[in-house]
Amino acid sequence: MIRLSELKLDLSALPLPVEGDADSVHPLSALRSLAAQTLGVPEAQIANVHVHKRSFDARSVQLRVVFVIDLQLTDTELEAELLQRHAGRSHIQPSPDMRWHAPASAPADWPLASEQRPVVLGFGPCGLFAALALAQMGLKPLVLERGRPVRQRTADTWGLWRKQQLQPESNVQFGEGGAGLFSDGKLYSQIKDPRWLGRKVLQEFVAAGAPPDILYQAHPHIGTFRLVKVVQALREQIIALGGEIRFEQRVSSLLLEPCEQTVSEGLQTAAQPDSQPALHAPEQQALRLRAVRVLDQASGTEYVWPCERLVLALGHSARDTFAMLHDAGVALQAKPFSIGVRIEHPQGLIDRARWGRHTGHPLLGAADYKLVHHAANGRAVYSFCMCPGGTVVAATSEAGRVVTNGMSQYSRQERNANAGLVVAIEPRDFPLDFPAATAAWEAAFGPERGRTYAQQAQALAERGQVHPLAGVVLQRDLEARAFVAGGSNYCAPGQRVGDLLAQRASSAFGSVQPSYQPGVHPTDLAAVLPDYALQALREALPAFGKKIRGFDLPDAVLTGVETRTSSPLRIPRGDNFQSLNVHGLYPAGEGAGYAGGILSAAVDGIRVAEALACAALGLPAPP
Ligand code: FAD
Repeated sequence: MIRLSELKLDLSALPLPVEGDADSVHPLSALRSLAAQTLGVPEAQIANVHVHKRSFDARSVQLRVVFVIDLQLTDTELEAELLQRHAGRSHIQPSPDMRWHAPASAPADWPLASEQRPVVLGFGPCGLFAALALAQMGLKPLVLERGRPVRQRTADTWGLWRKQQLQPESNVQFGEGGAGLFSDGKLYSQIKDPRWLGRKVLQEFVAAGAPPDILYQAHPHIGTFRLVKVVQALREQIIALGGEIRFEQRVSSLLLEPCEQTVSEGLQTAAQPDSQPALHAPEQQALRLRAVRVLDQASGTEYVWPCERLVLALGHSARDTFAMLHDAGVALQAKPFSIGVRIEHPQGLIDRARWGRHTGHPLLGAADYKLVHHAANGRAVYSFCMCPGGTVVAATSEAGRVVTNGMSQYSRQERNANAGLVVAIEPRDFPLDFPAATAAWEAAFGPERGRTYAQQAQALAERGQVHPLAGVVLQRDLEARAFVAGGSNYCAPGQRVGDLLAQRASSAFGSVQPSYQPGVHPTDLAAVLPDYALQALREALPAFGKKIRGFDLPDAVLTGVETRTSSPLRIPRGDNFQSLNVHGLYPAGEGAGYAGGILSAAVDGIRVAEALACAALGLPAPP
């Protein structure tokens, strides 16, 4: 098969989709003749054409539709000859093998002993795909998820949005499906993926009921309601393959024992150019996982579950679990993340700026955007997790704190477009100003623990290092400020763009009404965000207005605070995917600092599952 990319057609060449007729979506005969021209062969030589990807290029006046296709010629020898003739031309290549080749397969009687059964902590996209891949390789995983199954979780989450009642163990962040369940369901990522594991994720989604268009859309998305059904179907598949999923089970500690290997072996193999040195020195004793202690949240009882291999797919919001890992001696590192606000505009404004005269075309749908600005104070400001035709949602998992994020349905038909507008921060921005910062540590972790961590942080600061939990302190501090500024009732603080630029508090909203539930309190976001972030946002908004006309509309709404952009720390792992100093512990996904978004977290889950399966079965690691 031959893969041709950069095939461009006018939007008018595309047929309007006919319900239930997948083939009607693509202009196959126009693509066939374009392909024949590109390859210099008669059209009759092309046996079949399959669309791999479709995107819209709105950069020129004429909106173009760009295709990547796979085709087969009637003559296979000619196919090989053409590929040879065009070798070196990046848009004419052999079609890659995108199938998943499982690197391991367990014998039918696996596991031989109960502690050999792999355990997966967390059932977000990373844990779900780790569990699915393990189950497909015959390793019958046990999943322990602190939150509740989809149905109950949905009711709990709506409890916060409608009745201002937060369930700390079942909410937007915790429960079946993980943080991405109530979301826009964007399913793309910029990770390097030479083995096409992202394709496997999309195919599993489609097999579980997702719309097939996610396989060819350049920016696929699935929306909240459909994602919920897909997650339930994937859960059933894992169970059918011998896996087990237990909800309301929080892993509360790790039972570790010393082992002979030294941690330095792991440290030498790890490449982490952008992060601070690990808290744990290389000469420290290496540890081995023996069991996990689990709290059954429904009954309040604890039990010990023997396990030699644990996938740690904990997500970026399990701050108590981060602290538990730190206390257990697992190597952790502070890492950069971003803070800011959600911005809302009328969706029509974004559509007109992006699609021009084609606005409203049924194939285009609601437009998205991606913006970056490098501010004079050295900060990068960028749009994050843009949700066309969606709503801003309350995304806290902790009492007395307010966090924003965005979600949408598949149709993306809500009035407003929203996106995170965030400022990149480094570990050097985390609270280092001791002893004044002790109060922030105490507020974040309680008086006793907070004071101990503050002392550790001070000792590390003297060596030029950052405590791995310092980013959590900053997040909790900003989220608590947002709670107070919003009225201390889970309403969020908000401000009109015009008022932020003029450095005055908002007293009301104008033509753009905020969508965040339970409500937005007009105020001054200066009470919430640090000065450097406000300064960078004030500079970026007019700059973005030059790229998207109306982006700095005075009535556009800013709602705060956006803090859970990515994990504030990394749980470093070596080439064998295991923690640098705890053997048998497989840090994975967004919480461990190895993914950002649904697709990359799912791909990381598969990679970790493969490494675990090979290690457990004594096989060489996959590439
Ligand atoms: P998570 O999804 O956070 O899953 C971690 C799981 O571990 C949770 O279910 C948690 O309950 C469980 N857990 C934690 N600690 C324990 C413990 N001690 N014991 C047992 N279980 C535990 N990304 C996109 O790509 N596209 C989007 O459109 C998008 N929209 C989003 C909208 C919202 C509102 C939010 C909050 C996030 C969105 N994201 C989106 C981000 C995306 O959801 C995350 O990147 C992704 O979910 C990370 O996957 P994960 O499996 O690594 O972690």
